[in-house]
Amino acid sequence: CDKLNEIDIEDQTVYEEENSNLTVGIRVRPLNAKELNDSKITSVIQVNGQNIIVTCESVQHTFTYDHCFMSQVDTSESGYIDQEIVFKNMVSPLVQNAFEGYNVCLFAYGQTGSGKSYSMMGQESAQVNIISIDEAVGIIPRFCQEIFTRISTNMNTKTTVEISYFEIYNEKIHDLLTNVTNGVKRAPLKVREHPVFGPYIVDLSQHCVQNYKDLQTWLKVGNSQRATAATGMNEKSSRSHSIFSIILTQTQINNQLNSESMDASRRSKINLVDLAGSERLSQTCASGDRLKEGVSINKSLLTLGKVIASLAENTSNRKRGFVPYRESVLTWLLKESLGGNSRTAMLGTVSPANIHVEETLATLRYACQARAIVNRVRINED
Ligand code: ADP
Ligand code: MG
Repeated sequence: CDKLNEIDIEDQTVYEEENSNLTVGIRVRPLNAKELNDSKITSVIQVNGQNIIVTCESVQHTFTYDHCFMSQVDTSESGYIDQEIVFKNMVSPLVQNAFEGYNVCLFAYGQTGSGKSYSMMGQESAQVNIISIDEAVGIIPRFCQEIFTRISTNMNTKTTVEISYFEIYNEKIHDLLTNVTNGVKRAPLKVREHPVFGPYIVDLSQHCVQNYKDLQTWLKVGNSQRATAATGMNEKSSRSHSIFSIILTQTQINNQLNSESMDASRRSKINLVDLAGSERLSQTCASGDRLKEGVSINKSLLTLGKVIASLAENTSNRKRGFVPYRESVLTWLLKESLGGNSRTAMLGTVSPANIHVEETLATLRYACQARAIVNRVRINED
């Protein structure tokens, strides 16, 4: 199987079976207070193990995934406990993968209001004031917390953690961790491609973080920049993709000589992505700027689907076919996470309400398609 492990120097794509190892999970948010008080709104979703069953016009649609999470309506004092469950089951293995030297990528995909940001970052109040991990905290802070816990227990390795946080809006990149001086926003940043390390953003700020407290400070800066931009610009956050990146560099410390051996350095890149709302262009009153926004979002999400499909196709055929990474900024930037030495997971988020059933089915189908690709590859390999 030498061929399978062949590395293509030009596009840095590693062709091996694990290349298509895309894990797919679905998370169903609870009905909110307004929905619960409206007699016309009912829940149309049930979860049964790895299956999600949606009832639409008396027809039951069943979908199967690697993980299914359903938040129950909360009646207890302690609140929901599902942030931790989602993290333990679906995300914690990715932290392990990152320490093993893999690039890691996790996407939250779903319509606006279905729980992408809640899943990735957590409840808004939890983002700002938490002292320790509380239930409302989402994947990004938990991911970092687990990294720091692991670092503190491994004395033989020196590990550095660098973070960056940016958003893509209308195919343009904005750094969320640089200050806006005198209200003047910086020009959008550009993407370049390094022959060995792949695509990168020119002048994107990177920040070394030593502990969870440092991280919180930066998250506060990034989330408030995102929020400020959103209120001024037509709910922009639902139309932009936000990407939180971590670069983990592990260097073995040679105890005997008490010096660092630079040869034993391992670098993994982690991308945690809160995608723009997946609602279809036809449902937004698309005209002018709005149309442009809609088209860009569509393009990025569409390209993401195409890239995943092409990679799986290449793996199953053991050949190098064209992968349209460069068709959108999002996929170009995630090239090394998606195609290379990587572990990728998609968390589809859906609403249980009958009024959202069309969008819910669209998300479930998109997620199923990604998973079907993986299954087909595995069957062929057997
Ligand atoms: P999106 O980012 O997909 O637009 P949000 O994450 O902002 O959606 O979620 C919309 C609302 O629903 C928020 O008020 C959020 O707190 C709530 N919510 C989403 N998912 C859950 C969940 N699993 N449990 C409890 N509340 C949730
Ligand atoms: Mg959001």
